[in-house]
Amino acid sequence: MNFINNQIKKYQIYIKNRPKNFAIKVGKKNIADGEFFIIAGPCAIENRNQFFSIAKSLKNSGINIVRGGIFKPRTSPYDFQGVGIGGLGILKEAKKKFGFLIASEVMSVEHFRLLEKFIDIFQVGARNMYNYPLLSVLGRQRKPVILKRGMSATIKEFLSSAEYIAFNGNNKIILCERGIRTFDDFTRNTLDLAIVPALKKITYLPIIVDPSHGTGRKDLIEPMALAAVAAGANGIMVEVHNNPGKAFSDGQQSLSLNEFKKLASKISKFVDFFREIK
Ligand code: PEP
Ligand code: MN
Repeated sequence: MNFINNQIKKYQIYIKNRPKNFAIKVGKKNIADGEFFIIAGPCAIENRNQFFSIAKSLKNSGINIVRGGIFKPRTSPYDFQGVGIGGLGILKEAKKKFGFLIASEVMSVEHFRLLEKFIDIFQVGARNMYNYPLLSVLGRQRKPVILKRGMSATIKEFLSSAEYIAFNGNNKIILCERGIRTFDDFTRNTLDLAIVPALKKITYLPIIVDPSHGTGRKDLIEPMALAAVAAGANGIMVEVHNNPGKAFSDGQQSLSLNEFKKLASKISKFVDFFREIK
């Protein structure tokens, strides 16, 4: 393990040693302060009503960082590609109405320019973990970046992508484990929870877990979310929908509003429990 760590460390300069006063400020909150945090919301923003009804419920559950893609990277060109720039107004209105901080996926440098003024956290999806021009641009701006692990990315490749962002000047990076592709097809992906304690030894960057994409099945979200807490994750990102059965994307791995409410309250108890026994 030490040998592997040393090998990896050779490639990491800006993400290795925690700088003094390291903070990832999102609004007034510093999400690098060690407090567990939840990012929730639909896979995709479908229309104003859908997003606002989810948003209202999340607000009641005490969530203040909300996710929602308006540009969706879909495996098939025939699948819903996101509402596109029409979603910018919805994001703006939701931010104003609910006081949310918004995380949304950026797939290209072109998207970055469009989203820049409207969102608080940029999400780089698994399919773009290797998009070095995009990573470099995100490194040259100040907002936090959620970097999702590529589908078959090794830890070394994952960290090298984070290093791209940090090397260009922005170390406000949240690493996100979202499952990797293995031989098993019972679940959509294999959630590699061991990466959480492993990364903690190599980098100071916070790491969150996405049990929605990590499993592809809503019945596995709760146990994996709780396991993420136990593994030492800094937070989770989970997909929530007001009508999962009718969702335009990823409904099978989205919690209903009520299911999410229950999960959030369970997680909060679990987080307290783990803090106590530490
Ligand atoms: C998403 O978060 O909706 C998404 C597309 O995730 P990933 O990039 O991990 O597949
Ligand atoms: Mn999704």
